[in-house]
Amino acid sequence: MVVELISVGTEILLGNIVNTNAAYLSEQCALLGLSCFYQSVVGDNAERLRSTLELALKRADIVILSGGLGPTEDDLTKETAAEVLGKTLIMDEHWREALTTFFAKRNMKLTENNWKQAMVPEGCIVVDNKNGTAPGIIMEEKGKHVILLPGPPGEMIPMFEESMKPYLLKLNPGKIVSQMVKVCGIGESMAETMILDLIDQQTNPTIATYAKTGEVHLRVTAKADSEKEAKKLLKPMVKELKERFGAKIYSTNENASLESCVIDLLKENDLTLTTAESCTGGLFTARIVNVPGASEVLKEGFITYSNKAKRKYLGVKKSSLMKYGAVSERVAEEMARGACFFTKADVCVSITGIAGPDGETEGKPVGLVYIGCCICGRTTVREYRFSGERMKIRESSVAAALTLLRECLLGYFSEVTFGSGEKRSKKK
Ligand code: ATP
Ligand code: MG
Repeated sequence: MVVELISVGTEILLGNIVNTNAAYLSEQCALLGLSCFYQSVVGDNAERLRSTLELALKRADIVILSGGLGPTEDDLTKETAAEVLGKTLIMDEHWREALTTFFAKRNMKLTENNWKQAMVPEGCIVVDNKNGTAPGIIMEEKGKHVILLPGPPGEMIPMFEESMKPYLLKLNPGKIVSQMVKVCGIGESMAETMILDLIDQQTNPTIATYAKTGEVHLRVTAKADSEKEAKKLLKPMVKELKERFGAKIYSTNENASLESCVIDLLKENDLTLTTAESCTGGLFTARIVNVPGASEVLKEGFITYSNKAKRKYLGVKKSSLMKYGAVSERVAEEMARGACFFTKADVCVSITGIAGPDGETEGKPVGLVYIGCCICGRTTVREYRFSGERMKIRESSVAAALTLLRECLLGYFSEVTFGSGEKRSKKK
């Protein structure tokens, strides 16, 4: 079935608010197996809304509108949609009572225009709104379905989840199952190139790629009559992705983040972490701290922005700073080793780079970053060249540092597992 989305609100057209409702609804519709070919934004204008809805009804089986269900004059979605479908508005006694209770509970006075929210198109399905005063509306006419949702996401999302999703599932039966595959240390275009043939052939299951800073998320979605069949369809595709991306896959869990996986690795192996940051100024540590339970592995961290601080807290040699500069492989290495030495942590990640826009010197462009990772005395340093604005460079550095830490940990464990048993005798 084909769905079309219409976001109503002059604020969206003017760029005053970001159209997060459309992003949410598109994603949900895709998960429900509905095809969405068009979305539009229209201001609070009855004439233009009417023509937008009429056009959408020609192209789609289901039209979902969000916004403009409020009590004020400029809220005209319900009135316009009813007019387009040739319905008159009638008072819904149940909602009239609900409104009275809603206002009484909050000790608020009901104004005359609030009654407008209890008026609904004749013959429609009135949908409860637990978080606001506008009911949701479903209208059915000549095989078409028109769904009206309130604009505020805090009202729209719970209503969609509770009432609209089950309704849409009934319209478009079948089970949709999806599986996330999260990859790090590889760019979106490279990831797409590696699976271009799979993307080109995709029908059921489908693969959608989402680019994140330093990561790519691949969602594989299958649809079938039963959940079991859908899962069966998913399996070979997920297996194929696992073969192609190998160790670059850090998780297949929807809710796992790169930092939470890295922390799990540290925890499982009883390793403590410390950080030594320069250009990222604490961003890396903040991502680690975002994970509940980070305190089990992270004991302390350093923000050593100046050369003086690098020397004072991490024992970076003055001669290294003079000879190679603060943004260098040598200094990244000394930062990581120094932080491990002074804190007695098992693992340290160091980051030093030029975030820009100034600070470029000959041979050292903006975006040049060195990241070090010291695990139980062994240090790996890698050079990166990131592009973009200052914040983008800092975020890319953090993602790369998490990826390098993960890689070093995995390399370390494979050596430990199959090698000398170094980890068991590591000094704390
Ligand atoms: P209200 O009763 O608050 O007037 P409404 O259903 O009439 O609700 P609008 O007036 O269109 O909705 O929007 C109210 C608020 O909801 C907006 O100021 C904005 O904060 C949020 N909102 C509306 N549409 C969207 C959207 N497409 N994406 C994100 N937020 C939105
Ligand atoms: Mg409004």
